[in-house]
Amino acid sequence: GESGSGKSSLALALLQVLPRNVQLYEGSVRMEGVDVMTLRAEEFRQTYRWKKMSMVFQGAMHALNPVLRVGHQVAEPLLIDGGMPKRQAHERVYELLDKVGLPGEVFQRYPHELSGGMKQRVVTAMALVQYPKLVVLDEPTSALDVSIQAQITNLLKQLKRDLGLSLIFITHDIALASDVCDRLAVIYGGQVVELGSIEDVLSAPQHPYTEKLLASLPKLQSDAPPEFIPGQPPDLVSPPQGCRFHPRCPYAFEPCADRDPAFFAAGPAHWSRCWLRETPGGG
Ligand code: SF4
Repeated sequence: GESGSGKSSLALALLQVLPRNVQLYEGSVRMEGVDVMTLRAEEFRQTYRWKKMSMVFQGAMHALNPVLRVGHQVAEPLLIDGGMPKRQAHERVYELLDKVGLPGEVFQRYPHELSGGMKQRVVTAMALVQYPKLVVLDEPTSALDVSIQAQITNLLKQLKRDLGLSLIFITHDIALASDVCDRLAVIYGGQVVELGSIEDVLSAPQHPYTEKLLASLPKLQSDAPPEFIPGQPPDLVSPPQGCRFHPRCPYAFEPCADRDPAFFAAGPAHWSRCWLRETPGGG
């Protein structure tokens, strides 16, 4: 989704680190059969956040403490939260540096002595320090140049394979998503509007917004200029009634401005929040 569509807010909601003045959480978040939204805040903090699910925040590599050696920053949660002996924590840091493709001597370096790609590897190591099963990565490569982006995405794929991790990879770059992800959720106006396997969504998009997003990518084999989506993303404080995409949708028809579409099945494991996918007598 575009900027402002709610990608990062969804990630923060998963980790329950949205601002305290958030009034309403809807829906459920299930992990290993447990709806973690029903847990008390302290229980979630002690059992899930950073332990079973962790996150690499957007721009995290710019937030490393400039006056602390990198290894000590990675070890911090093990020492403070996990109560691990110092020697054991440092061994874990060396193990993680190796896992993310950094030499052990990086432990003693300060952040300003590292390149952007190395810093991104360090914050990835930080997210892995307490052996999570799920890591949410919010635009982990957007501040890196293309060749380093490729190195980081290869690293993520390798970690996914080697550690049996699940990743939620947040990006507005569909090409990048197609390289890393198995399933793709397209978000518009704070709602998931399409969900399916990466092959299904990219080869046969079932929501007009996804179709427009794909049409906005330049194509090497065509003289047709990339399309743009007219208008602006909705104001989420007072989103439009009915389908949130209707003011910008070229296919909008009778029900769209009045009724919010359901999440209709568009294939065996493919869904679209669009009235065009409503089947007669079905849903
Ligand atoms: Fe367009 Fe209507 Fe589908 Fe919304 S529900 S995407 S307005 S056709």
